[in-house]
Amino acid sequence: MSKAVRTVIRGGLVVDRRGYRAEDVSIAAGVVAAITSDFEPDASDIEIDARHKIVMPAFVDPHTHLRVPGGEEAETLASGTRAAALGGYAAVFAMPNTEPALDSPVRISQLLNAAAALPVRVLCAASITRDRAGVELAPFYGLRQVGVRVVTDDGSGLQDAHLMRRALEYCSELGIVVAQHAEVEALFRKGVMNEGQLSARLGVGGIPASAEEVMVARDIELARAAGARIHFLHLSTARSAELVARAKAEGVAVSAEVTPHHLTMTEDLLGGYDSRFKVNPPLRARVDVDGLWEHLGLGTFDVIGTDHAPHPMWKKNAPLDQAAFGMLGLQHSIAALWSEIPQVVARGRVAVATPDAVRATINDLGSDYLDPEELAWLWQILSMMSWKPAELIGLGSGFVGDIMPGSTANLLVFDPLANREVTLGSIASKARNSPYLGRTLRGQVVDLFVEGRRLVADGSLIEEGNWI
Ligand SMILES: [Zn+2]
Repeated sequence: MSKAVRTVIRGGLVVDRRGYRAEDVSIAAGVVAAITSDFEPDASDIEIDARHKIVMPAFVDPHTHLRVPGGEEAETLASGTRAAALGGYAAVFAMPNTEPALDSPVRISQLLNAAAALPVRVLCAASITRDRAGVELAPFYGLRQVGVRVVTDDGSGLQDAHLMRRALEYCSELGIVVAQHAEVEALFRKGVMNEGQLSARLGVGGIPASAEEVMVARDIELARAAGARIHFLHLSTARSAELVARAKAEGVAVSAEVTPHHLTMTEDLLGGYDSRFKVNPPLRARVDVDGLWEHLGLGTFDVIGTDHAPHPMWKKNAPLDQAAFGMLGLQHSIAALWSEIPQVVARGRVAVATPDAVRATINDLGSDYLDPEELAWLWQILSMMSWKPAELIGLGSGFVGDIMPGSTANLLVFDPLANREVTLGSIASKARNSPYLGRTLRGQVVDLFVEGRRLVADGSLIEEGNWI
């Protein structure tokens, strides 16, 4: 009888929902087998040298555009999940703005069945309205029967306040979360970027911050009146975050998402009419980015979603006013955020409200190569990229954010000191519209385990035939 292969991750800094500690981790038969600082070596062990690296729970993306069905020119289930794996994601949550839209139990089941054999878990939302047309509600009861936990018309906001009210009421009864892409379409026309001095100077249409904030305010009030839960996707302005913070303080059941690109880039990147930076909601001004970080530190946001939006080249290589909205996000999300943190700490204008128990574990480390303040921010970001999105989309027991004996081995090894240039050749997505192309980012996911299976080794995908 062959002995189960054991993988030992040695010498790393482990972080999970309880905090940081220097420990070795062994994986066998799909679970974390043991945690210790002193393993007895075994000749059959696979050993990973994790010195100066960080071992953490694998990521969960609550906002991925996989483009299936209908958009396979931009992305396929295979290419999208490869990009996810390289970014450290063990699970992705696909948005329903496909062609046709995911608005019925049959279409949901078809996608889930097509994705069932993939090494990265794929779940999906359904649309709020039929054909995502904003006119008639989707069949929520039937959708719930096939496991739908979240509905959204993402790609656009649900404009009709009466329909939104009904959706909140029905979904509340069924235990479904309504997620809104908050944007009042009547407040702009042919907008391509943030409305402000720069859009005026460039002579292109602007999307005002108020287009988002007015719908956030409306839906908070609708959720309050219905006693229902509301989730806001990809909030981009400081004022939106303030509205959410206030609603939370008043006891409204509201949660919110923020994206890596809104945290790390400003509208200034559009100064050269580069359509790679055209995204919806648009990249905003510096004051908004600072406000998003302030509220991330305060805990106003619940999850970080990539809004990974692949497009074929011909849709992006067009004049700014005609190019498609959206940018790739899965593969470089943690590196983009980790690259930004030193500047957030250096600016010193915002602080992170780390739980005392977690802060104590950072103080105990005395790490000589990592800044304690950066580790505090990293823990906050990890919570929003791992166990909190898992809870939102209804992933089960394997995604609770613990690395301890018996927990499912959904975890990754992150090299915080790596500096890697993002090149065309390194992009795993079928599309190429990465906003990070040509930039050198700090940090890299070097290993990923999903249910104990090693999908990424030394920063590269392991091909299917070589999985153990
Ligand atoms: Zn959206």
